[in-house]
Order: sequence, then structure tokens, then C-alpha cells
Amino acid sequence: MTAILSNLQATRDAIAQAAISAHRNVAEVHLLAVSKTFPAEAVREAYRGGQAAFGENYLQEALEKIAALRDLPLEWHFIGPIQSNKTRAIAENFAWVHSVDRLKIAERLSAQRPSQLPPLNICLQVNVSGEESKSGVAPAEVAQLAQDVAHLPNLRLRGLMTIPSPAADQEQQRAPFAQMRALLKQLNSQGMSLDTLSMGMTHDFPAAIMEGATIVRVGTAIFGQR
Ligand SMILES: *Cc1c(COP(=O)(O)O)cnc(C)c1O
Repeated sequence: MTAILSNLQATRDAIAQAAISAHRNVAEVHLLAVSKTFPAEAVREAYRGGQAAFGENYLQEALEKIAALRDLPLEWHFIGPIQSNKTRAIAENFAWVHSVDRLKIAERLSAQRPSQLPPLNICLQVNVSGEESKSGVAPAEVAQLAQDVAHLPNLRLRGLMTIPSPAADQEQQRAPFAQMRALLKQLNSQGMSLDTLSMGMTHDFPAAIMEGATIVRVGTAIFGQR
């Protein structure tokens, strides 16, 4: 077995373990393989191991990989920061966007989503750690943004995404994820029907699964160090 195939299997096993300890159904936790900086051949190898959903941060790099892998039925997720001039290519080439944090970007994605494609799945990125430099909407502003985005015709608002600041142990890792779970619950109690919490990376996905993650975004553990 190649390293990618065995890493993929080990990651799936660790996800299942975390789901079992959290008394959750393993099928509720989806693995997004983050392939940024790795070549198309690495993605092809992971696909051989049964992985079809891939996350990319950098548009130009992603477009090249998407073109090189057109022969495979892959599902592409954009997870990086979004500048206005990138929205058209994102709307045309991805199935999901996890990193929407302002209305203007959502409006452009909706307007530019090709009509023959299904609605673009959207997560709102939340800056739950409250760091100045981080992208993401403040928790206090999520409800308004969610209301606005939910009205856009060619988008389907699915839930929330976060990248918390690093924490020392699992107990501390869980705190921001628990906040995210509470935020999602609050939005759903206000009449939304959101089903996605995109949270957890290589170093903290077990903690995220404990707090209800439905998509974990894992790069290093599958493809190796960048
Ligand atoms: C790079 C990246 C990941 C994956 O990080 P790893 O630590 O390699 O698992 C997940 N989410 C986002 C938004 C990223 O930029």
C-alpha cells in the first residue's frame, strides 16, 4: 500500500474511533481530504482509496488540478480566503464553499453560479476565537449573515465552518467547537435548517467530532507535511 492509501485508512479509523467515543453515528462525519500544495497524482491516489471529496485553498492551483482530473467524479470544496475577483471561477468549478464571511462574496457567488449546475453549498466561516487577523464573521453577526445568504437563489446555505487558534490539549480544543455547535443550534431554533459543521483538521479533528463536526478537513494526516 502507498503512504496515501495507508494514511487515508488510518484517518478513517481515527474518525470512527472519535465518533464511537462521542456516541455518534460514524456515517454523520464526512472526511474532506485537503489536497492543497499536493499534485493531481496524489489526489488520484486518494481517489483509488475511495476518497471523492477534496478541499483546496488556492484558486489557481485548484483549477489546474480540477482540469487534470476531469476523468474522475470528484467533489471539489473551496476552503480558502476569497477575493471578489475569484468568485466567478469558484462558482463555476466547485460544489461547496466553506469560507464565506461576507454578504458581498455570497451575492457574487449566487449571481455567477451557472444555471445548469445545482445550487452551490455554502458554509459561513466563523471567527470563533476572536483573533483580529483571522478571517471569518464574528459570532454576534452570524445570524444576520445567515438570514441574508439563505435568501440568495443559487446558493444552499448548509452550515458553519471554523479554524480555531491552536490549543494545547483536547479539553481546550473542544471549547471553540462547542461554541460552534451552540451557534448552529441557535440558528436552527430561529427557523433555519442547517446540517453542517465543518470543523477539525489534522491536529484537532477528534475534539471537533466530540462537539458535532459533520465535515472534518484533513490534509497533513493523509498527504504528509506541506
Ligand atoms: C490546510 C487546511 C486544512 C487542513 O489542515 P491540516 O492541518 O493539514 O489537516 C483544513 N482547513 C483549512 C481551511 C486549511 O487551510
